[in-house]
Amino acid sequence: MSGDDCIFCKMVADQIPVTKIYEDEIVLAFLDIGPISDGHTLVILKQHFEKLHECPPQLLGQLASCLIKIARAVASAMKPDGYNVLCNNGRAAGQLVGHLHFHIIPRNSGDGLFSRWPAYKYEEGKIGEIATRIRKNL
Ligand code: 5GP
Ligand code: ZN
Repeated sequence: MSGDDCIFCKMVADQIPVTKIYEDEIVLAFLDIGPISDGHTLVILKQHFEKLHECPPQLLGQLASCLIKIARAVASAMKPDGYNVLCNNGRAAGQLVGHLHFHIIPRNSGDGLFSRWPAYKYEEGKIGEIATRIRKNL
């Protein structure tokens, strides 16, 4: 998906309405229109990148600074028991909007969100093989 047909780029360009939380030259934060908890907020770079690893580190750093500020504000305002910061990359990972974004999702004890976490154990030797494979790609 290019910036031209991207719904988040249209928000940045003020072509569609959005409930803004924070805006500067680089970052926009707004309330998710389909929240999974009250105060569910999205934080994006104004520039269009699809996935985390496609984003220049310096820009990601600037986004991270805002993410801290906005997470603090969401936590202070909504007073949840906790919150998740989530970044889906690719359709298989649940990314529906192809413009890099971070969810801040307020959480409360027993809310049942993300209750399934299908952890398993590696077979003998596999953890080392996988670590080697990833390190070779750094
Ligand atoms: P993803 O699944 O790509 O990580 O999350 C995309 C998020 O964008 C969803 O939580 C969805 O509710 C939100 N979203 C999609 N379209 C709009 C919109 O037009 N306005 C707002 N505020 N949020 C949107
Ligand atoms: Zn975009």
